[in-house]
Amino acid sequence: MMKATKTYEELLEELEELSFQLKEANETIQAIRTGQVDALMVETEEGPQLYTLKSADHTYRVFIEKMKEGAITLDRNGIVLYSNSRFADMINLPLGKVIGFPIINFIPEEYKNRFKKIIERGWHSDSKGEIGLKNSNNELVPFLLSVTSLELDEGPALSIILTDLSQQKENEKQLQLKNEQLQEARLKADKMNEILEDTVKERTKDLLISREYFKFLANNIPVIIWTADTEGKLDYINKQWYDYTGFNLEESKTKQHELVHPDDLEKSLATWKKTIENKEKFQHEFRFKRNSDGVFKWHYAQAIPFTDEQGNITAWIGTSIDIDDQKKELEKKDEFISVASHELKTPLTSLKGYIQLMEFQDNLSEATKIYVSKATSSINKLQHLIDELLDASKIKAGKLKFKKKALDLTDLINLCVENCTYMYPSYKIKKELQKNIIVHGNDERIEQVLMNLISNAVKYSPSKKEIIIRAEKNKDSAIVSVIDFGIGMQNADQELVFERFYRANGHESSMPGLGMGLYISSEIIKEHNGEIKVKSKLNEGSVFSFSLPLATQLA
Ligand code: ADP
Repeated sequence: MMKATKTYEELLEELEELSFQLKEANETIQAIRTGQVDALMVETEEGPQLYTLKSADHTYRVFIEKMKEGAITLDRNGIVLYSNSRFADMINLPLGKVIGFPIINFIPEEYKNRFKKIIERGWHSDSKGEIGLKNSNNELVPFLLSVTSLELDEGPALSIILTDLSQQKENEKQLQLKNEQLQEARLKADKMNEILEDTVKERTKDLLISREYFKFLANNIPVIIWTADTEGKLDYINKQWYDYTGFNLEESKTKQHELVHPDDLEKSLATWKKTIENKEKFQHEFRFKRNSDGVFKWHYAQAIPFTDEQGNITAWIGTSIDIDDQKKELEKKDEFISVASHELKTPLTSLKGYIQLMEFQDNLSEATKIYVSKATSSINKLQHLIDELLDASKIKAGKLKFKKKALDLTDLINLCVENCTYMYPSYKIKKELQKNIIVHGNDERIEQVLMNLISNAVKYSPSKKEIIIRAEKNKDSAIVSVIDFGIGMQNADQELVFERFYRANGHESSMPGLGMGLYISSEIIKEHNGEIKVKSKLNEGSVFSFSLPLATQLA
């Protein structure tokens, strides 16, 4: 009769036996892994079989143990004869549950067929293939199997190296992604290129049209037109230039100096050089040679810079017009003015002398005294006019020269203002003067400029009767400003008021004058190496200011 249950002691004994067997099995596995034991008993269909693993020496096993890849050896029945710990980790089992067990148990269902095929091939020749294994998180991880058959003493065996492909796959995925992004970027770049090309074509077409249009226009207006590059070198001339000079663009570039009158050449080149350096508008009068008869005719040239969106100059465009007739007219007028003012000066001086003699007569009636005083004032005005005309003639002839010395500008202004308070008693002249401004100049001529500016401020401010005179030092020069709150003038007039005979629009008929005073003043200031300027607003007033070099600067 069979015993129905085991006693507690029997069970305890059995447990102890099993624990001992387990310990022994673990020690055996450890011994095989480290090479201490070269044999393994495997249960086969034909009964237990002993594998000696002769070929696996100690160094080899240590090496296999350190590998990042999984390494296993199988017998003909697919039983794991050897496994490194890496493989056991890969499938998340203790090593004891791997060695001695059929490999197929660790292969996920969906990869079993493929695995078998790879193994099958491996028995005949080296074979490779990919399968998936489940990791500790139960996720499928791709592996590459490299299978090679071995001949052990106990019979044939199969060595399998398992390489985790997840990183490689991830890299491939990333690479693929990057490739896709690259491709996408390339497509975008291609598209942008196409758009750009279209835009360039369009712009080129526009440019061509506008260039043609410009050429058409330039060649059909009766003005000489030219353009120059940023350095000021000619790069285009219109038909009128060619017709007038007989030079084509290349000749004009190389022999330009032949076209300018020798007396005007130096100044022309210097003015153009200064224009390019200072990037300012070019305005210049010079004699330009006409090809048909070789005559130099007076021309007025202007050029303006073309700028891009950043304000950089990209080209210069210039025009030149024939002013020879006007110039000759002006010369005749100048000659007449010069002769007439000289001729008038002598009788006027004697007239003034006689009037002064009359003034000193004791027995003059009151009425005669009034006539004499009126005659004196008219003669003074006439003399002022003649002096202006003579000055202008001298300037034209380059003869306006005067001696300069150190002088106290503050004192000079005080003197002028005092005179003006007598001359213009209804005006309030306010002084804002720094003390001891010593300049290098000619006191009579500077006084002339000051009187001209103050009398203009009075003349052109009929209803606003306040005038300010300011004088201050600024670095190496003195700045004097005459400020009024009168009728003012437009911007266009401000550019021209220092020219001979120029009178601002609207003032010609309403206010007496010749348009000479500011021209003479500006020449006087220029002769002092100073500068004269105007800032004005219509109906708000004007500020005329000039600079003079401080005497200390020149000492
Ligand atoms: P004139 O006063 O004899 O005409 P100027 O050469 O002194 O000659 O002045 C030239 C022109 O400048 C004047 O005709 C006038 O139009 C303008 N102008 C001069 N000073 C002033 C000023 N203070 N306010 C407004 N316009 C002025």
